Amino acid sequence: MNRLTPAPPPGRLIDAPPFSKGVKPHLANEQLRANLQLATSTIRAKRARVTAELPYWEELRSVGQEIKDHTLQHLPYYLALFETRLKENGAQVHWAADAEEACAIITQIVQAKGVNEVVKVKSMVTQEIELNEALEAEGIACWETDLAELIVQLGHDRPSNILVPAIHRNRDEIREIFLREMKLYGKPAPEDLDNEPKNLAAAAREHLRDKFLRAEVAISGANFCVADSGTLVIVESEGNGRMCLTLPKTLISITGIEKLVPSFRDLEVMLQLLPRSATGERMNPYTSMWSGVTPGDGPQEVHVVLLDNGRGRVLEDPVGREVLRCIRCAACMHQCPIYERVGGHPYGSVYPGPIGSVLTPQLRGLNSKIDQSLPYASTLCGACAEVCPVKIPIPDLLVYLRHRVVEEHKRGQRGMEQSLMRGAAWGMKKGKRFGRVGKLAGLASRALPLDYVRWLPWPGSLWTKARNLKMPAKRSFRYWWKQNRGGGPGKGSVRGGPGIGSVGRSPDKGLVGGSDKGFVGGGPDEGPVSGGPDIGPVSGGPDNGPVGGGGA
Ligand code: SF4
Repeated sequence: MNRLTPAPPPGRLIDAPPFSKGVKPHLANEQLRANLQLATSTIRAKRARVTAELPYWEELRSVGQEIKDHTLQHLPYYLALFETRLKENGAQVHWAADAEEACAIITQIVQAKGVNEVVKVKSMVTQEIELNEALEAEGIACWETDLAELIVQLGHDRPSNILVPAIHRNRDEIREIFLREMKLYGKPAPEDLDNEPKNLAAAAREHLRDKFLRAEVAISGANFCVADSGTLVIVESEGNGRMCLTLPKTLISITGIEKLVPSFRDLEVMLQLLPRSATGERMNPYTSMWSGVTPGDGPQEVHVVLLDNGRGRVLEDPVGREVLRCIRCAACMHQCPIYERVGGHPYGSVYPGPIGSVLTPQLRGLNSKIDQSLPYASTLCGACAEVCPVKIPIPDLLVYLRHRVVEEHKRGQRGMEQSLMRGAAWGMKKGKRFGRVGKLAGLASRALPLDYVRWLPWPGSLWTKARNLKMPAKRSFRYWWKQNRGGGPGKGSVRGGPGIGSVGRSPDKGLVGGSDKGFVGGGPDEGPVSGGPDIGPVSGGPDNGPVGGGGA
């Protein structure tokens, strides 16, 4: 098929390989890692600076959480109110149950206008429903106007971040893309284009100008929707949103049903949380709001498509629904040590990083290999939850989804785990039996001169493909006890007779923290397991910068 716009990479995102396989080429890409490291560390530092300026930042986060929870609890009411206000303001409201329905509605509106191209201001929801592809299939070109989205589109690429979709590209790569591609789809880039950001931005501005001026139809997303006034809100940094929202005669906005806030007072909280968490700015440069049609000013035909696409199902889940609080700031991504090393593409979704790992499998279901693997794409370090402006407990949701994956899809493994547990219970139930098991384990360990086993055949490979297996102790504890304590009643027993003393009391004979290495926590030199004063708190103090930032 002859394409009107640059083709994205072949294949569907949902057919991506499991995360643990998909990351391998990205881990090996040093340029990618350097680009990501520079970008995420810069945004992290900015976010930490501007959030530290507000002494009430934590309270603001709590209020943001409460606003979103309240709205989600009463979502049918606020959606009905939003629809009523929009209609009163002259907008036409459409409801879409899924991606197919949403694409069909938008395509029909565009076709009814008799045009073969539209401009679009950044919208993750249109990426989620693959709107560009649906329009392209009907002979309608959809031009991205956000600078980063334009880079992605011209680069035949996919977004790798919800805030900075081209975060994986550096200036040299962008220059090459502009020089190679712009001339194929409109005004070419200047031949002497260098890699200075202001010159790259100027080339994009020139390339897009014609498209803005001739566009009859624009498509937008929305960052927030205010229910009691029927207002949609977009925050952006380049002014392209304002061009899309004011120049064309017809405006089609599509938004997920979870984007609602009840009133402007609630929006005020969100507009403090979002720019600080996202780009590390006190305020974003452009905030555009529109509430239907204003005669003689701006678009004279306004359509709003309210999209479910799995959100209603997520809302029914009392645990999983917390994810719907997300305001798409990307702070969790920029804080995540995994994302920082592999970028967004291995997540097989337009929503990458920690939020993608808990949102995508819930929106799409846990049926594909990639969606089953996403809840495991985390170390559970908790850095994401520490920065989330609406306090989404991402690590808890990851664990919850792992549980669901096992319950719903890994019945074989689950049966095996239960058999192993039953075997362990049998082995430990009787003292003599347990002694024999210990002896056998010691024999095996002495026969194999290894500290760790790095590979086992299936089913042991389920363990060894992710971590090494420590060999059992060469001698059992019972053997050690017999050797060191003589095992007789006069010298105490495991259960503790008068001669045994308390655990860890004797410096040379104690079990815990003794000089004989002890068992739990090591001796005083090793410090406590969770880190003593010399190690410092896990989450970093005020001097250490952002939570998790120092170590990430
Ligand atoms: S989960 Fe929280 S931190 Fe991550 S994108 Fe959503 S709102 Fe931002």
